[in-house]
Amino acid sequence: MIFSQKSPPHSRQRPLLRELLDAALAVAFPTDCALCAGELPSDGWLRICPACCARFEAWTGPLCTRCGLPFPSPRALDASLAECGLCLRDKPAFDRARSFGFYTGKLRQAVLLMKYAGGERLGVRLGELLASPWDSLPLVSELDSPLIIPVPLYPSRRRERGFNQADLLAAGLVRALGRHNRGKAPRVAKACLRRKRATPPQTGLRVSARRENLRGAFEVLKPQVVRGRAIVLVDDVMTTGATLSACARALKRAGAAQVMGLTLARATPQFPDLMRIERDNTVDGLGREWT
Ligand SMILES: [Zn+2]
Ligand SMILES: [Zn+2]
Repeated sequence: MIFSQKSPPHSRQRPLLRELLDAALAVAFPTDCALCAGELPSDGWLRICPACCARFEAWTGPLCTRCGLPFPSPRALDASLAECGLCLRDKPAFDRARSFGFYTGKLRQAVLLMKYAGGERLGVRLGELLASPWDSLPLVSELDSPLIIPVPLYPSRRRERGFNQADLLAAGLVRALGRHNRGKAPRVAKACLRRKRATPPQTGLRVSARRENLRGAFEVLKPQVVRGRAIVLVDDVMTTGATLSACARALKRAGAAQVMGLTLARATPQFPDLMRIERDNTVDGLGREWT
């Protein structure tokens, strides 16, 4: 999913087309890192140099205990055990959701590269980053084997792209968890959840409209697989959580005991300041700015 955000007046956001063009150029000239223009190692199939890969930063500040929305102000620090206004007003169907970092700066660029420049191997590498928020999902470690379900794309969209980015991220997560747990990693169930209809773009829709847009969009194909289980949904970007919530609703109706969401990046258009903090660190070696 791509969400365009209303830019605050001070923002110097680059147009999406420009970003896509840069991503396409990175495919044509894969000797340079697509993020810092530094030299790639000879096996540069990731298109991002090891230094940039190591520089993706996880959010470790206070957050909404349910949906993982970061709390940006010091005042909110005191409320770090609380849920955000969004969750209090309209409880999502998932039990918990966490993201690795913000959908901004180099992480956003990497997501675009993965989705629109055929970055399949990059997708698996980025999926490894999900092992960090995985550890912070309450209860996950106590559950005997949570089942990982990538959020499905509508079939025509998947054919167009050639892959589902959520599948790549899930594969990377499993690889990282297997490494940490000496080969024991949870199972990924792919053909279990289906997107029944192509949903109109969520861009520009308010929370309630996003939820309405996705009502009944997902169906569980194999209820026997999810019944009584804890499920961890995996996706690339979360904004309001409407997609995760719609998936969770379908899974719970089919008998899932617990549904959690893990995404690579959280888009926080409601907190332009949070976006700006990271933007200060996103001027690369050539003076180009990734926003
Ligand atoms: Zn780099
Ligand atoms: Zn929340």
